Amino acid sequence: MNKLTEFFALDPEQPAAWRGLHALNFDNSYAQLPQHFYSRQSPTPLPAPYLVSFNAHAAALIDLDPASSAHPEFVEYFTGNRLLPGAQPLSMLYAGHQFGYYVPQLGDGRAILLGEVRNRNGELWDVQLKGAGLTPYSRQGDGRAVLRSTIREYLCCEAMHGLNIPTTRALCITGSDEEVYRERIETAAVLTRLSPSHVRFGSFEVFFYRKQHEHIATLADYVIARHFPHWQGKAERYLLLLEQAVQNTAKLMAQWQAVGFSHGVMNTDNMSILGITLDYGPFGFMEAYDPNYICNHSDPNGRYAFDQQPDVGLWNLACLARALSPLIPEQDAEAVLAQYARTFNSCYMQAMGEKLGLRAATQADVPLIGAWLQLLRANRLDYTNTFRALGQFDSTPSALNAVLRDQMRDRAAFDVWAADYRARLQQEGSTDAERKQRMDRANPKYILRNYLAQLAIERAEREREFSEIDTLLVLLRQPYAEQPGMQRYAELPPGWASSLEVSCSS
Ligand code: AMP
Ligand code: MG
Repeated sequence: MNKLTEFFALDPEQPAAWRGLHALNFDNSYAQLPQHFYSRQSPTPLPAPYLVSFNAHAAALIDLDPASSAHPEFVEYFTGNRLLPGAQPLSMLYAGHQFGYYVPQLGDGRAILLGEVRNRNGELWDVQLKGAGLTPYSRQGDGRAVLRSTIREYLCCEAMHGLNIPTTRALCITGSDEEVYRERIETAAVLTRLSPSHVRFGSFEVFFYRKQHEHIATLADYVIARHFPHWQGKAERYLLLLEQAVQNTAKLMAQWQAVGFSHGVMNTDNMSILGITLDYGPFGFMEAYDPNYICNHSDPNGRYAFDQQPDVGLWNLACLARALSPLIPEQDAEAVLAQYARTFNSCYMQAMGEKLGLRAATQADVPLIGAWLQLLRANRLDYTNTFRALGQFDSTPSALNAVLRDQMRDRAAFDVWAADYRARLQQEGSTDAERKQRMDRANPKYILRNYLAQLAIERAEREREFSEIDTLLVLLRQPYAEQPGMQRYAELPPGWASSLEVSCSS
């Protein structure tokens, strides 16, 4: 649906439907909820803001005329120095389990929801400024985001969208020379995030642990009215909501695992009730394949290591189920949670099968997939590039497949696997060329490697030169396509990349 929306919205035949900055169609449903759910809060201005990057594809989601980004007022509005007409700014309340422990009050400590825009297709999109200053939920924080972390989030959510993975979107980044203190002095920036919803598992948990059960129902009914209106009035609507969260989260985890994405901070306050990827911090795309990969330097025990993500998804859903327990009989909730493993397994199997060029992988293919991953692991091969290279596998019996084989320390092990793979491909009955076409649609060529983001960040910080951000944005929108002249973005990371560390500091 998003893709279609974008297509029509970017159609030059349709300019009449664009809206200027003063005419966005705000429809602030969250602000109409009772006061318990948020605090009204205006953004705190930043001095002399400037535009870092603008994403016309995201602008289309709120019908915003892309030409408005050139307007001097644009930067003022999306830094929070002026308030867009129709906006009703607020910070949302939530709690959450952080690294296994319940933290009773979190909330948007530096994010301000300007409101929701209803676009020409009737879709509602939250417009949120991240890094827009102190809120009642800031705790020890300064309410700010640094340029480095906003660039990472901006690029990653658009990269995930390009990979067809459900995610929040990013409209723009604005920057200011205001100093912000992290491990070093950095500068402030604001990310404008668009999302169908910012409601988190933790948005429900806060009222469960406060024993304010009537608010749980109010919030659940709000989410149902906004996203699943056909369930309104049904007695089992809360169970349906939990079931939807289980299904969407299971599918999302399968997609993350298949593409090699590690979120890094899967606390329940970072889990979307809609099962979309939310809150990009110390994320990472797997490079040399290692199932124990930990992308977050602040997670030494690997609670959120790559191979833990599917289990953590279920653990988090159990927290959500507990928070919804005043509304759902226990046995029903348990039955719905029990669906998680089935959905995850079938989605993961399907996705991994497609990555190997198999149209309908079954349980019988598990050993073949597992042995391939074992080859990647034993040889520390790049997850993305090696899958992409497998698309060129020559299935004629005499073929050596030297490009792959030469990367293996144990060539005999590869030959054994290649014989099994060849036999399996014969059952598929397609030509190598047809299979390659399919595999190129399942195995991205370009991912947001840490070092690519880092190079864009360094140029932005040192030289105030932002073109590399825009280059990556365009590149990562089409991660499966061969893009002429862009081969260097698909190369293995340089040696210095291995010393890059990302942490919760943002
Ligand atoms: P995160 O781990 O980034 O999802 O953040 C966890 C909580 O800390 C959320 O409630 C954030 O709003 C809050 N937070 C993170 N950074 C800051 C900051 N610089 N100022 C205020 N609150 C923050
Ligand atoms: Mg968060």
